Amino acid sequence: MAQQLHFLMIPLMSQSHIIPLTDFAKSLARRGALVSIVTTPLNAKRYNSTLASSPLTHLIPLHFPCREAGLPDGCENLDALNSLDLARQFFHACRLLKSPLHDLIRRLHPAPNCIISTNAISWTQDLADSFRIPRYVFETVSCFTLHCSKKISQLVDSVASDSDIFPVPKIPHRVQFSRNQLPRIPTKDSDSFTDPDPAPPRGTLVNTFQKLEPWYLNACREERGSLWSVGPVSLSNREASERLSRGNEASIDEHYCLTWLDSMERDSVVYACFGSLCTLSIEQIIEIGLGLEESGSPFIWIIRKQERSSGKVEEWLAAEGFEERVRGKGVVVRGWAPQVMILSHPSVGGFLTHCGWNSTLEGVAVGVPMIAWPMFAEQFYNEKLVVDVLGIGVRIGVESCADKQGLVRRERVRSAVVKLMGERGVRERAEGLARAATDAYEDGGSSFLNVTLFIEDVVRAHAEMAVNVLDTD
Ligand code: UDP
Repeated sequence: MAQQLHFLMIPLMSQSHIIPLTDFAKSLARRGALVSIVTTPLNAKRYNSTLASSPLTHLIPLHFPCREAGLPDGCENLDALNSLDLARQFFHACRLLKSPLHDLIRRLHPAPNCIISTNAISWTQDLADSFRIPRYVFETVSCFTLHCSKKISQLVDSVASDSDIFPVPKIPHRVQFSRNQLPRIPTKDSDSFTDPDPAPPRGTLVNTFQKLEPWYLNACREERGSLWSVGPVSLSNREASERLSRGNEASIDEHYCLTWLDSMERDSVVYACFGSLCTLSIEQIIEIGLGLEESGSPFIWIIRKQERSSGKVEEWLAAEGFEERVRGKGVVVRGWAPQVMILSHPSVGGFLTHCGWNSTLEGVAVGVPMIAWPMFAEQFYNEKLVVDVLGIGVRIGVESCADKQGLVRRERVRSAVVKLMGERGVRERAEGLARAATDAYEDGGSSFLNVTLFIEDVVRAHAEMAVNVLDTD
């Protein structure tokens, strides 16, 4: 097809969906494609600068129906909710976008050749069907998670108690779970936030790469047919400015941050960040701060806006004189960190993470070993991938999701940091995987070639559908 391809991206309005999709948009735009990304006015403000370097990508802000769905104004992104108790209303608001999206697609020029939507918003399949264009799902979890969660769903009801440990059957690694570590399984009464898939998508894109999880990738490919690993997409941020403002305006001055990092020894700094959704209690925040301090390693520690909203964190920081004490050794970032910029710096040698898939893969992409502290959703899968399968991290040692976790004391934080920073084998393996990630993403690598195969599939689908239309006319 000689004409320029036009991809329409529809993410769930959450950082862990919008961020990788905008990264992937840049990969497609580099191949000369036009990419439109559906967003909302407040989200568009956050992403404008990340996409500034990519003129073929466009944000299309749609009114987000907060009031209609019973959400406070301004809750246009999952990370803006004060509590995940509002998640049901949030998913409802997303679903209400269907009709305005229909109108939008009708008016879009040039007409899109396909829809790429992230998992959790399978209602976008109906839109694709009504415009006779293919839909591709962009998975925001690993193939390890996709495959193991399927295996687990077949046996989980036969497990006697929530704390009983069971192995995942028929996989090449010894990986064990308890029900306490699994995402909440929706029952008929509690119903799921998301709809069941109306029809399978034409194909699946996964933010991963071949050498990271070859067995699981192949298993998923066998199950799903057309599946392409196209990551780590965070590597699409080549310019320093893209890494600085990815996902939000950074709450730390770039120059200060980089100068501070430059002044530290190679691989010495611990970066502690728990993603865009975790809201830790004040007690837990205190234990983390003191654990980091007692570890003796220099650190950059992110405290989210929501965690500071009660004022207790600031009270503690002031009363304790924490920042005075750690001056020169530790930096506290209040709000949003330029995570990829920080992780990419050679001084960063450890990542205390909640194991969200984006964060995990961003750590993998730059060879930073991890302390895995999963909290909820599929984060325990990522913990097991990092520690048991890849050997590029250590556990903090929690046994259940955050609501049942209990307080993790400073001593455990301290000893996990000390252990990780002294583990040579772990670091070497992490560095080896980072080289494999770069090879996969660069021209001619497996992810690069998969992007080509995916584009070819879109062209093929377009031709097939045109033939079908002629047949039915
Ligand atoms: N992130 C960031 N700065 C922050 C917090 C998060 O850049 O201060 C980014 C991070 O790089 C990742 C995303 O937000 O791309 C979080 O996604 P992830 O899947 O790790 O976790 P979630 O936020 O969904 O729990």
